[in-house]
Amino acid sequence: MRADHETDVVVIGAGQAGLSSAYFLHRAGLRDDVGFVVLDHGKRAGGAWQYRWPTLRMNRVHGVHDLPGFRLAEIAFEPTDSAAEVMAAYFAEYERVFDLPVRRPVSVRAVHRVPDGRFLVVTSGETWLARGVINATGTWDKPFWPYYPGREEFRGRQLHTADYTGPASMAGADVVVVGGGTSAVQLLVEIAEVAGSTTWATRRPPVFHEGEFTPEYGREVVAEVDRRVREGRPPGSVVGVTGLTLTPEVRAARDAGLLERRPMFARITPHGVWWPDGRWQHADVILWATGFRPALDHLAPLRLRGPGGGIRMNGTRVVGVPRLRLVGYGPSASTVGANRAGREAVRGLLAELGR
Ligand SMILES: Cc1cc2nc3c(=O)[nH]c(=O)nc-3n(C[C@H](O)[C@H](O)[C@H](O)COP(=O)(O)OP(=O)(O)OC[C@H]3O[C@@H](n4cnc5c(N)ncnc54)[C@H](O)[C@@H]3O)c2cc1C
Repeated sequence: MRADHETDVVVIGAGQAGLSSAYFLHRAGLRDDVGFVVLDHGKRAGGAWQYRWPTLRMNRVHGVHDLPGFRLAEIAFEPTDSAAEVMAAYFAEYERVFDLPVRRPVSVRAVHRVPDGRFLVVTSGETWLARGVINATGTWDKPFWPYYPGREEFRGRQLHTADYTGPASMAGADVVVVGGGTSAVQLLVEIAEVAGSTTWATRRPPVFHEGEFTPEYGREVVAEVDRRVREGRPPGSVVGVTGLTLTPEVRAARDAGLLERRPMFARITPHGVWWPDGRWQHADVILWATGFRPALDHLAPLRLRGPGGGIRMNGTRVVGVPRLRLVGYGPSASTVGANRAGREAVRGLLAELGR
């Protein structure tokens, strides 16, 4: 089997999880072309953060955990600066400081197992043969957009969180926001300031989390997602486990009546949405804040999914698949989890490679 390049480890994705893995590979003494490479689809550094809407400010993100070995505080920024810009600058500086071998823009299209047991990584450009793969592709590239009847007849504008660039274009509009997660709540609050009206539709009644988001509570959440993936079930949405954090801003919005939730509508009509009890709401815009799914399509040739629809995991290891690690997936799909996963994945993978 021939390829354009051969290496020990290919890391796919340069977000928090991929950069953390790259840092630990670098620390273990692996180097570009000989030891490892990071292939990233983004045009610039920053992982998914670079695509977040410009109105998402650093003081509204839930807490970003430092990448290993170089603190976010080393970057000068104000709390009201855009998270996309600050995080892109932080990741770019991180890659520079540790001289990490990141190649971009490179899209990994498929990963195959070849007869000698190595992986063939097929990209938008060159091909790579690798003894091990660390997959760190996050979720941003796979927005989840559920189907409701009538969707194609709607005459207004429909968009997903992934396409949202701020509330300005919704001034005076009747906006329906779908989804029960943190992004739905954050977007509702800012859209309500300019919209004609906002309507919030969710499948289940939202659960607001009253207390502080303590480290103990965080650990419980991670343990629950970990149980799911160990059993081979899909990890599910993190917010489905955590509930919605009641920040002062969210509490004020709730008290002002901006977070009156309605159940999901049954149908979309050309100019609105319709519920089975006969209610109808005019809509100029439907915003689908319905989350994301793990971006793993390029791993399809490896046939990782089991009968439960998920991938059976033990830590970052895919059970029964040697030398493949998933980081930033399931229990490690948070900035703190992604960091730890990078360390664990590298330690385990290098042991498997006999290094
Ligand atoms: C709207 C939103 C807000 C969030 N806010 C927070 C928060 O405040 N705090 C928190 O802890 N977590 C937050 N999260 C979760 C957060 O995204 C993760 O914690 C973490 O940043 C994800 O890191 P990652 O490295 O796994 O993925 P990403 O940052 O998504 O990085 C994946 C990288 O892989 C690349 N890639 C994808 N597919 C391919 C491919 N086929 N080939 C090559 N490259 C590819 C992408 O371009 C990207 O650069 C938020 C998530 C969302 C969607």
